[in-house]
Amino acid sequence: MKNITVIGSGTMGNGIAHAFAQCGYNVNLVDINEAALQKAIATITKNLDRQIQKAVITEEAKTATLKNISIQTDLAKAAANADLVVEAASENIDIKFKIFKQLDEVCPPHTILASNTSSISITQIAAVTKRADKVIGMHFMNPVPIMKLVEVIRGYSTSDAVCDLIMETSKKLHKIPVEVNDFPGFVANKILMPMINEAVITLNEGVAGVEEIDTVMKLGMAHPMGPLQLADFIGLDVCLNILRVLQDGFGNPKYAPCPLLINMVTAGHLGVKSGKGFYDYSSGGKELILADRFKKKINATV
Ligand code: NAD
Repeated sequence: MKNITVIGSGTMGNGIAHAFAQCGYNVNLVDINEAALQKAIATITKNLDRQIQKAVITEEAKTATLKNISIQTDLAKAAANADLVVEAASENIDIKFKIFKQLDEVCPPHTILASNTSSISITQIAAVTKRADKVIGMHFMNPVPIMKLVEVIRGYSTSDAVCDLIMETSKKLHKIPVEVNDFPGFVANKILMPMINEAVITLNEGVAGVEEIDTVMKLGMAHPMGPLQLADFIGLDVCLNILRVLQDGFGNPKYAPCPLLINMVTAGHLGVKSGKGFYDYSSGGKELILADRFKKKINATV
């Protein structure tokens, strides 16, 4: 393992590129959007500066990390010498299928194809390739440079050797990998998303306001972040997509997304990345400010 191609340079892709580059791997970061690539490099630089301030890394390590990252818009070129590809493009099944079909054609036979998908079946993704034994889930957590967990998802046909190699590689990134099987939402999101959805339902029913719900879960359950703030951080569109995968995958109405979540995504209020969700991030400050929509004192409707 030396050459890593990361596909998608959004919230997760830039963090995954950062983690690999910092551990000495050559990283090719790919996106269809040139602006997203530039933004990713700016974000990685800012995060490395933060690590220097906290004395986690040196100035030299920052320079070396940035030197290990190249950016590309041409997937075929970027993946031609890859030992491992980690796909972190948008959570959309058609986009993922197209990418994996192309990767299977352009990558050398030994290349392992990993997806950072939050919920889409690894077995289904593997089925569009002719190397199902080398397709695996490598589910990093956000923010990648800080969070220790990698959920390693074995597809139905993933080989033991590939699973072992990905567990080893995750450890080399100073992460803690946990092996799980391929079921909708895996472990993390099968448990997390129903909690987030229930928080939105609780808000929608008028049981309590945004800050009250988040405070109860922070102080009462010792969660570092309330579920609504966490949803903003993950991206409300990502949350909605995962709930739909859980609903379809298990055929169980308990996963049906709250209509308020659907409305917010339709209106483009996606959380931190769009500047507004349950909270308003447009000022860029550290303080949490409620979005206007949720400032009004609410009365319970049920
Ligand atoms: P994002 O919307 O921030 O970024 C997605 C990026 O993919 C965009 O820059 C987009 O231009 C790019 N893209 C779309 N189609 C592409 C293609 N064909 N080729 C190359 N690039 C393409 O999304 P994100 O939050 O970074 O999520 C990426 C993946 O990681 C998803 O599968 C998501 O489920 C998963 N994930 C997200 C989180 C999270 O907290 N956001 C956590 C774990 C896993």
